[in-house]
Amino acid sequence: MVTSAECLKKWGDPAITTNELKYMTLWDVPSHLEIGVIPKKLYCNKLMIGPLMQAFSNIIDRGLIDELKTWDGCFNVRKKRGLKSMSLHSWGIAIDINAAWNGLGKTPTMSNRLVKCFTDCGFEWGGTWTRKDGMHFQLRSI
Ligand SMILES: [Zn+2]
Repeated sequence: MVTSAECLKKWGDPAITTNELKYMTLWDVPSHLEIGVIPKKLYCNKLMIGPLMQAFSNIIDRGLIDELKTWDGCFNVRKKRGLKSMSLHSWGIAIDINAAWNGLGKTPTMSNRLVKCFTDCGFEWGGTWTRKDGMHFQLRSI
């Protein structure tokens, strides 16, 4: 699993805006992927563009667009909830979806098919962790 220590080493302190400018980008999502709640523009780490294009394509191709109910964010400089280390959202390499039905520490309600759209293309799912975070997907490597 990618750790906040690795991200710190690779990209530096996310609270420093001049660092942020090096790895973040405002990605203009291609119009053929702008379906349902998929964002039209997405402020994310540059490394996310390839995997997210593939994940969004998977969702569309597999007929699961109705299962993607809410887009709950990517970039957010903050600590992991209740923990000392920084969340990987701080470097823009994590996203949350369907948050209302997949709360932290709760049993995820997301279908395996939807999860697979992401895990098939470079994402790790928080729904398998000891402290379940079913809304959360992050890059498997950086
Ligand atoms: Zn998250």
